[in-house]
Amino acid sequence: MSYTALYRKFRPDAFSEVKGQEHIVTTLTNQIKANRIGHAYLFCGTRGTGKTTVAKILARAVNCEHPVDGSPCNECPVCLSIQAGTSLNVIEIDAASNNGVDNIREIREEVAYRPTQGRYKVYIIDEEIGRAHV
Ligand SMILES: [Zn+2]
Repeated sequence: MSYTALYRKFRPDAFSEVKGQEHIVTTLTNQIKANRIGHAYLFCGTRGTGKTTVAKILARAVNCEHPVDGSPCNECPVCLSIQAGTSLNVIEIDAASNNGVDNIREIREEVAYRPTQGRYKVYIIDEEIGRAHV
């Protein structure tokens, strides 16, 4: 489907490519550079403002083997596997259909295990997975 290709094509891969969210990007990259990362981040905003994009860059940045100025290198094995969606440590969850007590219990059980690759397990809980961002 062409709309998927378009939004994938224009989805930024680095914090420096994210437009209009400079204060958030600055805060996040400073935290990554200082190795002072929060255990959870809540991104609020209307559709298309970059919540999922920033979450995905953040997921790579905290696990990247050679981060560049707080951004992921997008070249190391960890970055590549997260980008390809094959990393077991970055889990995307569709909140719209996984909002039950059992789902939360499942997440709580899984987070007890250490990451298999990289430093952190990242859960991206998104309400808009699979929808076109236009
Ligand atoms: Zn990397």
